[in-house]
Amino acid sequence: MNETWFERARRVIAGGVNSPARSFHSVGGDPPLVMARGEGAYMIDVDGNRYLDYLAAFGPVILGHAHPLVTQAIQEASTQATLLGTPVPSEIVLAETLVESIPGLEMVRLTTTGTEAVMSAIRLARAFTGRQLVIKFEGAYHGHSDAVLVKAGSGASTVGTADSLGVPTGVTQDVISLPFNNLHRLSEALERWGDRVACVLTEPVVGNMGIVAPLPGYLETMKLLAHQVGALLVFDEVITAFRFHYGSAAELLGVVPDLYAMGKIIGGGLPAGAYGGRQDIMQYVAPLGGMFQAGTLAGNPLSSAAGLKTLEILRTTNPYLKMEQLARTLETGILELAKHYDIPITINRVGSGFTVFFGETAVVDYDTANLASKEQFATFHHLMLAEGIYLAPSRFEAWFVSAAHQDGDIERTLDAVDRSFKMMRG
Ligand SMILES: *Cc1c(COP(=O)(O)O)cnc(C)c1O
Repeated sequence: MNETWFERARRVIAGGVNSPARSFHSVGGDPPLVMARGEGAYMIDVDGNRYLDYLAAFGPVILGHAHPLVTQAIQEASTQATLLGTPVPSEIVLAETLVESIPGLEMVRLTTTGTEAVMSAIRLARAFTGRQLVIKFEGAYHGHSDAVLVKAGSGASTVGTADSLGVPTGVTQDVISLPFNNLHRLSEALERWGDRVACVLTEPVVGNMGIVAPLPGYLETMKLLAHQVGALLVFDEVITAFRFHYGSAAELLGVVPDLYAMGKIIGGGLPAGAYGGRQDIMQYVAPLGGMFQAGTLAGNPLSSAAGLKTLEILRTTNPYLKMEQLARTLETGILELAKHYDIPITINRVGSGFTVFFGETAVVDYDTANLASKEQFATFHHLMLAEGIYLAPSRFEAWFVSAAHQDGDIERTLDAVDRSFKMMRG
């Protein structure tokens, strides 16, 4: 029973979850479902109930769950070794594959998580520039290392405040958090602190305050402004790399950063991350240079095999157009239903990922994302769950359409949205 499992979880795991985003805390009420397995676009809970899955494990599972070829690749790799602590062919081929498919990624280092990838990219930017300050953007999530758990200070305060207890003030003092899509604030900050800024860190398309695309020209100007003061541009593509097409979002948007951080899809559902970029910068990484970064499990054979097979399938089957078409059908359908039931919503969609905000204001940054109704989303989330549709349990996450979703799944979803909106109208 789901309740029994979660009771057991709550006793021994803090909050019953090993990552807070998995809890139903922000949508209130019921304990989260304990899932037993996945099957294509579906998840099946420990009680045997099936859910159509738009979570995609927060992004990595782009081919759907338990893809037979990915499973086979993992099985085969596991018969050779799980971990050798030496270079292995699969990690080398994965690194080659990334370098070949991502513009500006001349050299790479594999890590075990996206958190490490971003954390290391920041350290590298600091090592290369000899500077300390990092500029990031409010509402963006870059993993759970100290430096990126800093939000903007209030009012005239220049020093960031921590998003988490336990982040030392020494760290928050070196991070400036600004509103996304606001060039005025960015140029102001760079004018003031420019010669101390190591890097400007951003997701090219934000995925963690809901999907928020950059306004036209925003990233181009960001790069220009950063370079004018000698700072590096770092793109966190942990969600976006290989999500919208076979390659980086940077390529789609026409702005190549100095450094990338990646994760999620490149591990094919197993733990993996990567950071890299310009060769002259990567020369600073140990053992070539003096920036230290390491990992017992980094580039491990199983993650490399799963990632490689996933990328190979994405390259050869090119599911992106179909995924985008399904997401567009959902977007259009949900907008029509919202209009019909007179429920004000805004949808931000990029390719196969989108967010439904319960509010009328266009969402371009964290403040506007925050205007969306938390209560309405919570109600909607529970109604959809009762319909057998699993959405991420937060209004700041995306719906991800995977290559395993079919036309019939989209129809089912829209029927469920229809009934849910009807209930919400009372
Ligand atoms: C998920 C995510 C991370 C962190 O990756 P983990 O593998 O969870 O450590 C970093 N940046 C972005 C944009 C993410 O979405």
